[in-house]
Amino acid sequence: MHKKIALAGPDITQKEVDYVVDAVKNGWYETYDMHIRKLEKTFADYVGAKYAIATYCGTHALHLATIALNLGPGDEVIVTDQSYIATAQAVSYVGAECVFVDIDPDTLCIDTSLIEAAITDKTKAIMLVHFAGMAADMDEIMRIANKYHISVIEDACQLVGGKYKDKYVGTIGDIGAYSFQGSKIAVGGEGGMFVTNDEALYKRALHYGTFCRNDSISFLWSDDIGYNYRISNVTAALILAQIERIDELIEKKKRIYDWYHEFLGGGCEQVRLLNIPKDCESNYAYVVGYLEDSSEITRDELLNKLLELNIHARPGYPSMSAMPNYTRRFPMDNSERYWKKGLVLPTALNLTEEDIRFTSNMIRDLVERGKME
Ligand SMILES: *Cc1c(COP(=O)(O)O)cnc(C)c1O
Repeated sequence: MHKKIALAGPDITQKEVDYVVDAVKNGWYETYDMHIRKLEKTFADYVGAKYAIATYCGTHALHLATIALNLGPGDEVIVTDQSYIATAQAVSYVGAECVFVDIDPDTLCIDTSLIEAAITDKTKAIMLVHFAGMAADMDEIMRIANKYHISVIEDACQLVGGKYKDKYVGTIGDIGAYSFQGSKIAVGGEGGMFVTNDEALYKRALHYGTFCRNDSISFLWSDDIGYNYRISNVTAALILAQIERIDELIEKKKRIYDWYHEFLGGGCEQVRLLNIPKDCESNYAYVVGYLEDSSEITRDELLNKLLELNIHARPGYPSMSAMPNYTRRFPMDNSERYWKKGLVLPTALNLTEEDIRFTSNMIRDLVERGKME
């Protein structure tokens, strides 16, 4: 059996080990939150945001976003139809309704030409996703948001370190959320980050993420039902080391991305890999595409055959609007197509050029001939 060609996985060096050991040994007493504070400052400075709150996971950062914007029952939020379900559930947690909008098939991000038709007088926010290393069309989203006076949440969980034009994603709308879960480019095992430039949103998120504690009334007083969404100092130390190495991690991801585009992108007409949109500076964390109808085998047959070779590719996300608890107001043809025909190729950071060549050759054999040579 070939070594596991993992879908995702981190690059860990002595620096990460040293930071974690330091946190375990020294992150107590007066320095109990030293690494959390350093991570928040480092991350805010890196992306160019005024405020950052490190959270236990990216989903918590998204939930704090919907809380900070005071969304609730009776409100509608425009949500892109393709994402990990956390994006939609963060809207549902506060009782607001998700109004799903289909994706642009070339970027897998929300199709901005469909947003205005989905806006009603209940619409309070747009929740977009910077999907698989591709930035959403922020100029158009901000134009629409300003026109209708609605807020913008950027789910940048997959695009840590990526830019739209000259700005880091997550800093263009009202609030940005990032994830450091184990399959993302920079990991903490679990971990997330909430960023904003708005002081009131920051204070509200901080308040609700720490049990709504209000010590000014009485020590350990809580003035509303809140949550315990803080990150642990040990996890923060690990993420801090990863963020200090983010340029190196992006470079490694870019090599993997380039190898796939070299070995599989040209010449194999059954697989169409997606390219980074022109206004986006990617983190290259993912390589995604479609299996074309000309393939000798179906997408699911391909994934199963790859798994037999210990190659862990995965399908596109299911359309969120098709899941229980959610409904559709509009057709979701492009999202359905990516769900049924989409491919996410292994881009774990421990993969070598040989691994990518092997994976590409196996995929090519399977889709061109229906078997391995
Ligand atoms: C990973 C991910 C999340 C959730 O992040 P967690 O840290 O796992 O909670 C949300 N949205 C998107 C687009 C993601 O990829």
